[in-house]
Amino acid sequence: MRFILHILLTVLLTLATQIGGIVYLLTIIILHKIKVKKRIYRFLTFIFLYLSVTFLVVPNIAPYFGRVKITNNIYVQNHSLITTLCNRNYVKPKLNASLQNIGNHFKQRYPTLTLVYLDANFPFIDKFPLLPHLSHSDGKKIDLSFLYTEAGKFTNKKPTTSGYGIFEEPKSSEYNQTNRCKQKGFWQYDYSKFVTFGSFNADLKFSLKPTKYLIQLILQQKSTQKVFIEPHLKYRMNLNNAKIRFHGCKAVRHDDHIHFQIW
Ligand SMILES: [Zn+2]
Repeated sequence: MRFILHILLTVLLTLATQIGGIVYLLTIIILHKIKVKKRIYRFLTFIFLYLSVTFLVVPNIAPYFGRVKITNNIYVQNHSLITTLCNRNYVKPKLNASLQNIGNHFKQRYPTLTLVYLDANFPFIDKFPLLPHLSHSDGKKIDLSFLYTEAGKFTNKKPTTSGYGIFEEPKSSEYNQTNRCKQKGFWQYDYSKFVTFGSFNADLKFSLKPTKYLIQLILQQKSTQKVFIEPHLKYRMNLNNAKIRFHGCKAVRHDDHIHFQIW
C-alpha cells in the first residue's frame, strides 16, 4: 500500500512540476539512510530539497538543455506563484528575449501595465508536455494574460487565481466558436472554466486597446510563428495577420488568454 502511494506521488509530482518526482525519490533515499521517522520532519525535508532544487539548481542547469528561466522584472512578470514554484516558467532563450522586448515596448506605451505570463514550459526534455497544455513541450510556447480595467482605470489584476477560465464572451453579433465546437462534440473546449482556482476580481473589464497593442507587438517579432486567440476577439480587435490562427476545436477556447509560439 505504502509502495503504491509512493509511486502515485512520484507520478503526480512529475506531471505537475517535472522535477518533483525525482526530488521525492531522492528524499525517500536520504530519509532511509538517516532514519528520520517523524512525518513532519520527513515532509519538511522534502520541501527543503524541492525548493533548493527548484530555485538554486534547475535555473543553473536548464541552459545546458537549451532552456532558460523567464527573466522577471518591471516589464515581464508571472501571474501565479504556482508557475515559478512548479517550474512552469522555462523557455528557449530566443523566446525569453522576445518577451523582454515585447514587455519593454509595452511598458513604454502603457507605463502602469505589465506583460503578465501564465504557463510556459518545463525546464527539460522536448516532447515532455506541461499539462494540461499538450503543445507546451518544446520551450517555444507561452500563454499571456489579457489586460483589464477596474472602475475605469488600468490594472494589473487578473480575474482568476490561475489566470485561466474567465472568458471574454462573444457578443450576440459575433461568431461563437465555443458553441460551434461544442455542437461538434468537443466537450473539452471550455473546460478551462473549471481550473480558475478561484475568481476574486469579478468587476474587472477586458481592456481592448492595451490587449490589442500587446498582440500587435507579439506579431511584430520576427521570431513569432503563431498567435492563438478566439475568432470573435480577432474580429473585435480588428486584427488581420496571417500569424493569427485558429487553434482548432481539439484545443481549448482562447478568449481568456493569448497563446503565442516562436519558430
Ligand atoms: Zn498555450
